[in-house]
Amino acid sequence: MRDYYDILGVDRGADADQIKKAYRKLALKYHPDRNPDDKEAEEKFKEAAEAYEVLSDPSKRQRYNQFGHAGVRGAAGGGGQGFQDINDIFSAFSDIFGSGGSIFDEMFGGARGGGRTRRQGRPGNDLRIKLPLSLEEIAEGTEKKIKVRKFIECETCTGKGVENEATDFETCGTCQGAGEVRQVSRSVFGQFVNVAPCPTCRGEGRIIKNPCSECGGEGRMKGEETINITVPAGVLEGHYLTLRGAGNAGQRGGAPGDLRVEIEEKKHEDFTRDGLDIYHELHISIPEATLGTEVDVPTLKGRARLQIDPGIQSGKILRMRERGIPDIESSRRGDQMVRVHVWIPTRLTDEERSTMENLKDAENFQPDPSSLADRKGFFSRVKDVFS
Ligand SMILES: [Zn+2]
Ligand SMILES: [Zn+2]
Repeated sequence: MRDYYDILGVDRGADADQIKKAYRKLALKYHPDRNPDDKEAEEKFKEAAEAYEVLSDPSKRQRYNQFGHAGVRGAAGGGGQGFQDINDIFSAFSDIFGSGGSIFDEMFGGARGGGRTRRQGRPGNDLRIKLPLSLEEIAEGTEKKIKVRKFIECETCTGKGVENEATDFETCGTCQGAGEVRQVSRSVFGQFVNVAPCPTCRGEGRIIKNPCSECGGEGRMKGEETINITVPAGVLEGHYLTLRGAGNAGQRGGAPGDLRVEIEEKKHEDFTRDGLDIYHELHISIPEATLGTEVDVPTLKGRARLQIDPGIQSGKILRMRERGIPDIESSRRGDQMVRVHVWIPTRLTDEERSTMENLKDAENFQPDPSSLADRKGFFSRVKDVFS
């Protein structure tokens, strides 16, 4: 039975981190996936795991230091018996392989059939697009299909960057698969150890030996995707709809970014919006305003007939109930406001001019705002009928 410290190649005073590092290195070297059908490698792999199992546990390590192999006999998985099954090793040390983003996560995760936690690739960034909508679309809600130019996952390698994951990677030479590099610096204050993600493999612990021919190992490529967007009724200019995962594909299997769709309200020919209400400017003639009339006005759902009472004043606002924009958060709906403008002619024929001259001094044509005081408010509710 070899000495556990010898097996790992560390001295008896090694700290937990040094032990872990040494084990990682050996496990990588003798991993069964890299040494298929090599009995000797498998034995070394088991041996290293056994040594690590004992030395990584402070109480077992203490017993081992005191009593040697006898001190740890019978301990789970260790103590002379050794690991019988490779899978025991995978499950026993999932803690050191389970995080931190090294080649081990990939190898061990794969061997155990799932539970991957390896930090893969780099995430794609978020995209923003503007979505212009008409007031009609905003009022009713709409479904839009839009084409987005972005990075899409490479179909050939399904984003992995290689066509065969088992053979197209190799261990990163810079970090030996650890995914991180340590730099020791000394200063007057003492020694500093700086741990940083490996610059060569970006923390992945492995590099591509044989990149995907389609995407060159990026796992993604420039492309176009048609995206369906469901816009709820009542959105406002500047609102965002966030489509999770619809942004740029990540590099080499990294998570995709989001797509942020910013609502833009198209200018409408007939209406301006004020919150939930919409305003329509209605121009009528002096005779129409004086005698009363019926007008045809646009609404967001086709045209409607509107009764104009005789004697309507310029500036009067007629309220068409619930012909506006629905509230996105309630069942409330805004109104359509029709603002009346009485048109004053700017050109006159001689005949028109003399008619106006005749009316100039007529009593009923003299302004008398005080007579309007008893009339109901500035806004008046009107009934509209669809034509
Ligand atoms: Zn590296
Ligand atoms: Zn590819």
